[in-house]
Amino acid sequence: MNAANSADTRSAERSVAGPGARRRPIIEPFKIKVVEPIRLTTRQERTTYLEAAGYNVFKLRAEDVLIDLLTDSGTSAMSADQWAAVMRGDEAYAGSKSWYRFEAAVKDIFGFAHVIPTHQGRAAERILFSTVCRPGHVVPSNTHFDTTRANIEAAGAEAVDMPIPEGLVPSRVHPFKGNMDVAALEALIADVGADRIPICMLTVTNNTGGGQPVSMANIRAVSEVCHAHGIPFYLDACRFAENAWFIKEREEGFDHRSAREIAREMFSYADGCTMSAKKDALVNIGGFLATNDTSLARQEQNLLILTEGFPTYGGLAGRDLEAIAVGLEEVLREDYLTYRIASVRWLGRHLTEGGVPIVQPPGGHAVYLDAAAFLPHVPPLQLPGQSLVAELYVEGGVRGVEIGTVMFGHTDPDTGEEVPSRMELVRLAIPRRVYTESQIDYLVDVVLDVWDRREAIGGFRFVEQTPVLRHFTARFEPLYEMT
Ligand SMILES: *Cc1c(COP(=O)(O)O)cnc(C)c1O
Repeated sequence: MNAANSADTRSAERSVAGPGARRRPIIEPFKIKVVEPIRLTTRQERTTYLEAAGYNVFKLRAEDVLIDLLTDSGTSAMSADQWAAVMRGDEAYAGSKSWYRFEAAVKDIFGFAHVIPTHQGRAAERILFSTVCRPGHVVPSNTHFDTTRANIEAAGAEAVDMPIPEGLVPSRVHPFKGNMDVAALEALIADVGADRIPICMLTVTNNTGGGQPVSMANIRAVSEVCHAHGIPFYLDACRFAENAWFIKEREEGFDHRSAREIAREMFSYADGCTMSAKKDALVNIGGFLATNDTSLARQEQNLLILTEGFPTYGGLAGRDLEAIAVGLEEVLREDYLTYRIASVRWLGRHLTEGGVPIVQPPGGHAVYLDAAAFLPHVPPLQLPGQSLVAELYVEGGVRGVEIGTVMFGHTDPDTGEEVPSRMELVRLAIPRRVYTESQIDYLVDVVLDVWDRREAIGGFRFVEQTPVLRHFTARFEPLYEMT
């Protein structure tokens, strides 16, 4: 962030100057070595592209997008050290140097006995759930991510979300809105019985719930309840470093501890984790599964060999393992996390000042627009989040993603009627180390322009959809005249 326009954020941020010194702006803790041009398009061109894509931004060509906030997954800019590590990659089939470096880096932070590399997070999920879940099983979480839910359901089990009540009210401010409702978890265990719960998860940070952090107290409490009933407790660890940073900033007693120490404590309460390295390992592909259970690890490795690869590379090249090892070290640096969290908060603050309803407070990796409050005249089954996503693209070439009824709505098996999602959100995910502050300024402008003409915006309807993960491939049609 540059000095001119981040002045207003400084007072609320941790000072990076010494005691008694003037507060300095929080800046990007890197300089740019390689640039990738982005292409300006006209409104007319964008209207044409969007229509051809069936109004589904997943179907746009990325080169037709100016600011791509579809996801923070796999979109990080790698550092010079990571690229150097890529060149060091040892591509030996078994027991490569890169594997040992990767394994040591993961164990140093995560602490689990067994590490199983996979090509991305969902491969870890599929291996885990197809090993531990059976039909009739129930898997609780604060909120399951979409692929997590889909993999649990594919194994015949039921995925249950149990966020704290504050987590479901976008405007409610709570320091740890990603927390799980521990009383609801206890009630579920009493209701279905611990033997039908093969695993309990916490997603840190809670992506689907707004990128909101989970407190150490909540991690500890959920761990205690699980262990009292013999239920293995896992973290979906994709954004563990961002979560650790929120604990440092917001939770009593963690102020003087490093992000690495906090992360280690988080994992110390768990029996294993799934991880998408495409988030907080600062790489473009990769993931892993980890566990302390030796016999489970053996079963998982057998499945890994069947579909991903030999246990010392999983679905990855040696160079990928190297980049992850370096990324896991960089993501825990204080200057990086200070900048990362401050830049997302800065975007959230400017939208809030312009009157735009967002999930408060801003999360670690994204700002979530509250589409239901943004377009209160568009009913949930007319997909207000989809309208907002389409309008942001036409207005300024910005690509966000709907996290509402398109993604999580479903057909009631008894009535055959469409049931809307609990919240209608649009996620603006911020890739790590990619966009500068002036590009974020542009983004704020685009959102405010759509906000100004919100009353003229109507709803959408599906014209084509698939039964599973329909948001990726569906086609839509506006129910109003887009201008
Ligand atoms: C991205 C993500 C996953 C899945 O990881 P992929 O690498 O995309 O397969 C799982 N859980 C959460 C919380 C995620 O954000």
